[in-house]
Amino acid sequence: MASKALILLLAVLFCGQAVFGVTIISKSEWGGRSATSKSTLASSLSYAVIHHTAGNYCTTRAACQTQLQNIQAYHMDSLGWADIGYNFLIGGDGNVYEGRGWNVMGAHATNWNSKSIGISFLGNYNTDKITSAQITAAKGLLADAVSRGQIVSGYTLYGHRQVGSTECPGTNIWNEIQTWSNWKA
Ligand SMILES: [Zn+2]
Repeated sequence: MASKALILLLAVLFCGQAVFGVTIISKSEWGGRSATSKSTLASSLSYAVIHHTAGNYCTTRAACQTQLQNIQAYHMDSLGWADIGYNFLIGGDGNVYEGRGWNVMGAHATNWNSKSIGISFLGNYNTDKITSAQITAAKGLLADAVSRGQIVSGYTLYGHRQVGSTECPGTNIWNEIQTWSNWKA
């Protein structure tokens, strides 16, 4: 009986971790700058939009952090935005990195920023390949978003190209996300 109880407990813990255990590397942890201003993003949103950065791919945390710092500098210093545009980013190292984060409106998809969270993969996925670790990270992040009430459980997942005139998120991610349960044509 004791071992059965232990197995059940471990199963509960493991399942809990699978759903809620996404480790998000905070902006301060990756050396990001604070936003110059923030607009509130509502809860219970109906959409998540997937992007790629169309920039360099990275396979180590150090290399991904450099990419994040470069992208944030481009968005803030060259484009004049308040912060890096996306809510969250996922590196080729399989890590999830905080962008604007939860309940802060992004700048990632014209006319959709107030209606969705924006998640971007570091790299250009017309040529770079999405890894199983990145897929697990993205699905865990989306589950986390549902558990927090940022998006509803029946949310619609779109690739950026479905809501804007762009080839984002690149062919390889586009092919992948069409197999995800919340993706809709
Ligand atoms: Zn995009």
